[in-house]
Amino acid sequence: MVGAYFWLNSAPPVNILFITLDTTRADRIGCYGYGPAQTPQLDALAQRGVLFERAYAPAPMTSPSHTSMFTGLWSPEHGVTTNGRDGLAEDIPTVAEALSQRGYSTAAFVAAFVLNSRFGLNRGFDVYDDNLSAEQTTTDQLHQSRDGREVIDSAVDWLTEHHQSHSSQPFFCWVHLYDAHDPYVEHRDEFGETFAGRPYDAEIAYTDRLVGRLFDLLKQQKIDDNTLIVVVGDHGESLGEHGEITHGYMLHDSTLRVPLIISDPRRPALPKKVATPVTLVDLFPTLLSAGGAKVPGDCSGQSLLPALNGTPLAPRTCYSRTEEPYLQAFWSPLQCITTERWRYVRTTKPELYDLSNDPQELVNLFATQPDQARELEKVLTVFESGLKMRSGTNVAISTEERRALESIGYAGGTSSPTNSPATDAGSPLPDIKDMIGAFNQLDEATHLMGEEKFDAAAVILEPIARDVPNFLRARLNLGRCRMRQNNYEDAAHWFKSALEIDPHSDRAHDMLGFSYLKLGKLDLAAQHFTTLLEIQPESENARLFLGEIAQKSGDLQQAMRYYEEVLQINPGRTAARQALDALRAAQGQP
Ligand SMILES: [Zn+2]
Repeated sequence: MVGAYFWLNSAPPVNILFITLDTTRADRIGCYGYGPAQTPQLDALAQRGVLFERAYAPAPMTSPSHTSMFTGLWSPEHGVTTNGRDGLAEDIPTVAEALSQRGYSTAAFVAAFVLNSRFGLNRGFDVYDDNLSAEQTTTDQLHQSRDGREVIDSAVDWLTEHHQSHSSQPFFCWVHLYDAHDPYVEHRDEFGETFAGRPYDAEIAYTDRLVGRLFDLLKQQKIDDNTLIVVVGDHGESLGEHGEITHGYMLHDSTLRVPLIISDPRRPALPKKVATPVTLVDLFPTLLSAGGAKVPGDCSGQSLLPALNGTPLAPRTCYSRTEEPYLQAFWSPLQCITTERWRYVRTTKPELYDLSNDPQELVNLFATQPDQARELEKVLTVFESGLKMRSGTNVAISTEERRALESIGYAGGTSSPTNSPATDAGSPLPDIKDMIGAFNQLDEATHLMGEEKFDAAAVILEPIARDVPNFLRARLNLGRCRMRQNNYEDAAHWFKSALEIDPHSDRAHDMLGFSYLKLGKLDLAAQHFTTLLEIQPESENARLFLGEIAQKSGDLQQAMRYYEEVLQINPGRTAARQALDALRAAQGQP
């Protein structure tokens, strides 16, 4: 869209470069006070712009957090509450749509499958580069992320083309870098021994170099004086604090406090730092205002642009939540509010921290300051009662995609909790603080499975699958290990036990059906694939294996119908193609 006429009566529009750094803690960056950091590019950006000392993610997960940034809504309001499952409903406006309507040229370059276009953030982008294929080694192996270098290469190409051919049109360019997500590497090719034993710091230094390439390009093109730059983390990483290794299960500064730097070269940037707590929900109205678009009245965020001129921001309540403990194991989900001084976390065993005196959140004051806790619980209740809750859309993903998500610990299989967080049918749900060790073991096993070390993974999984109540994913993963060990009897045992926890788990029905098929128990296999079809009407696997069962039972016409249906859904499903061709050949058909 060419929208130059939009600007006739106003100042020339500003380009907007929006960079999201996955899994990046604020306190691991030089300008946030971390001595060992090597982040010269971000440090210099903070010198040119404004650094928000206390910016909080609304969720410690990639999709929910990004969706809040792009919509100005809290996660229960936009309905994208977990990775790899929920999509953004069509009628919720996004930053890219609003800026596109204002005449902006829009492009996005994302590094992870969890931000694939099917989850809905592509809306409003002229170009949405979510192509991870350069990393693929085989056709059936889907990678869940790509190296930031490839993301930057694509963004540089687009920015160069835009500069050469459409420079009269402002751009909104979103670049997402996933490198700081685990597993971390030391990048010895870039930094030698500098980060030996500190791979997370190495990933952040690597990311800093990558964003520097974009900053250099803007300078070369002489548009750095008319490009607003926002750099923000989507959530942090616990790195072992509070017993959590990665992110997603708990709510503390380690996973909620992220870097946020905004540089607008057209503004004097009077303050260098803003200490007022802000939330990433505020980025939607900030980006819209920067691009001259109208902010919808029901937006839950507030624009941060006044802070760039030195106008103090009103103190606000920052809300965060995570469903992951519930989705993975039916343990209590968590909600929290962060104020200037306090953090209150609602869960089965609530937490209260005095952030001004205990920034590391080491001392839970819930028992010793009950009045303060009660007050904040009331604030949280009132806040949540004002949310306009809605669901995301259910996004279909293929078996290969699901496997890729599972390899990084995502994609539960359960339905979301109702908003009765800490109890289920009257009895309290287990608290993550008591269970985090089991989650860490699950993560470790998941990594081993990613490296095809199924024997070692099974050793870790067996005790937690057996002893930890309702640990759905441990049971599913142990079943998967047993399948890979060719022990289908035991695999079937674990998938059956997973169905006792969640009778609607599509993964459990899928893999139990497959195990029975391998054991020659065709009737039982057919039952589970039929149930899978009811839960997941688009399932390729259910049809493929129902086809195989029909074929083994001698009903060749029915088998062919199933294979044809698979190919209608996914023309690239080789197994169905080969089976169908073989059946047709046997019957003398072309
Ligand atoms: Zn993330």
